[in-house]
Amino acid sequence: MTCDFSLEHYRALLDAAAAGGYRFAGFDTPPAPGVVILRHDVDLSLDAAVALAEVEAEAGAWSTWFLMTRSVFYNLGSSAGERAIARLRELGGRIAHHAVWPDVDLDDRFEPVVAWHNPDPEYMTAPIDGATNVMVSPWFDPEHYRSDSNQHWRHGCPHEQLARGEFEWLQLLTHPEIWAFDGATMRESMESFLDADRAARLEHLRADRIDLGWS
Ligand SMILES: [Zn+2]
Ligand SMILES: [Zn+2]
Repeated sequence: MTCDFSLEHYRALLDAAAAGGYRFAGFDTPPAPGVVILRHDVDLSLDAAVALAEVEAEAGAWSTWFLMTRSVFYNLGSSAGERAIARLRELGGRIAHHAVWPDVDLDDRFEPVVAWHNPDPEYMTAPIDGATNVMVSPWFDPEHYRSDSNQHWRHGCPHEQLARGEFEWLQLLTHPEIWAFDGATMRESMESFLDADRAARLEHLRADRIDLGWS
């Protein structure tokens, strides 16, 4: 099996977790033996999040989606943003907050669970008033954590270890954009994202009654 960053291999990861006997869990109870906590930090694209959520629903999996209120790339308050939240919930997902330090904008769209975006070590593991910080014990432990940052698994793709049931439990962080957009490298995946973003923005211009000089 090729460990690429595609929706097919994301599905393989989920199937590996099922083969390893894991069940899925969220951040509302401390991690128990045998659980995989799927966490997604949505940095760039709600469409990519929904694409991954569709794969999860097909696989009988579910996850917690950490969405930004202060993204420069998407607007959670737009009609597209509201549709994305509704679809993620419909597919069985939970909605939590991907916050930009120091602002925590927890409102009724979110569970009281926070993952900082690109955190500095100074505050990464600091407690957050009224919310669970996902990088704090018991949710976080280096031995029970894997992340796909920039298409790089620091300890290798976890699919084989999942299939063999080698983790007591695991918090698995993935970034949907890395998987949903085609590309053999991070640069190529980001070029695919930019192409899709341009096409979406042209549609927004049209919907906004901007005269594009086309008929
Ligand atoms: Zn793999
Ligand atoms: Zn982030």
